[in-house]
Amino acid sequence: MLLSSTARLAARRVVSTAAFRSSARTATTRSAASADSRSSIMPLAVVAAAGGLALGASRMREEEKTQCLFGTGSNTEAIEEKFATYWPRNIMILFGPPGAGKGTHGPKIEDMLGIVQLSTGDMLRAAVSAKTEVGLKAAAVMKAGGLVSDDIVVGIIRDRIKEPDCKFGFILDGFPRTLVQSQALDKMLADEGACVTKVISLDIPDEVLEERICGRWIHKKSGRSYHVKFAPPKAMKLDNNGNPVLESMKDNETGEPLMQRPDDTPAALVKRLQSYHGETVPILNHYKPNGIVAAVNANQGMDGVWGEILKALKRSAQ
Ligand code: AMP
Repeated sequence: MLLSSTARLAARRVVSTAAFRSSARTATTRSAASADSRSSIMPLAVVAAAGGLALGASRMREEEKTQCLFGTGSNTEAIEEKFATYWPRNIMILFGPPGAGKGTHGPKIEDMLGIVQLSTGDMLRAAVSAKTEVGLKAAAVMKAGGLVSDDIVVGIIRDRIKEPDCKFGFILDGFPRTLVQSQALDKMLADEGACVTKVISLDIPDEVLEERICGRWIHKKSGRSYHVKFAPPKAMKLDNNGNPVLESMKDNETGEPLMQRPDDTPAALVKRLQSYHGETVPILNHYKPNGIVAAVNANQGMDGVWGEILKALKRSAQ
């Protein structure tokens, strides 16, 4: 079961194109290695958490505790099943405007906690590429930087979080984006007795986003992301005006051509930011009374942002 969820995570990355991984090194070293590490991370997390529970069960004899928690034979599937049945899911929202770093830091949280990152942008782009019914409906509005209808994205998430790789929890990236979506999310979680457990808000001024967004190039197949200034591909050449030569924009690993997202343009960004401030930011106030919103300064180097995220993920950070 663990291996299959690992494979799913790897597969998600293959179709993923949203990641803004501002270091080419980071971008190119992800994939199989991190997937391998996860197969050991999850049992460790489960065993560690189980250990905590064991300490609380003070009246049981050691042997009984072990049997109760791990089943006889320390069967991984039985432990997983126990946690999936009795423990609440860890449900996080990675919040922030386009270019804030959700695609950079989400995979690191995935690796650390062993829960999957679900990007509605990735899922919609996959649907557009596959020319599914949803993709055909969403393509034009996405290209212009508008929001796809609540019904469509809520339906996508409703189905996706039922998948086995979400059974311990998940990280939402790009969802919810409207109050209607957050209410629909709360409702679908409440139906199973769950709720959003953490909102990490990556705060960054609009002024820096245009450079981040408009300079990003992507290797579509792997999701590896580059930036003309912050993480250029090795083969990149500049013309006399300092602009990248199209033919030189190649993926470091495969040498295949890179592409720019059709909505990574200054015009579409204006629209994306308008909907972010008008429709998405109010979601923070929706979750603040629960004491689960943690703000992170995303306008600093990657290590600084990651340090603040780690702090925000800890229970004591609220
Ligand atoms: P992203 O990759 O998160 O920047 O999303 C790319 C585009 O997909 C957005 O500009 C929207 O057009 C669409 N999209 C992604 N997630 C949502 C959502 N939760 N609600 C509506 N539209 C979305």
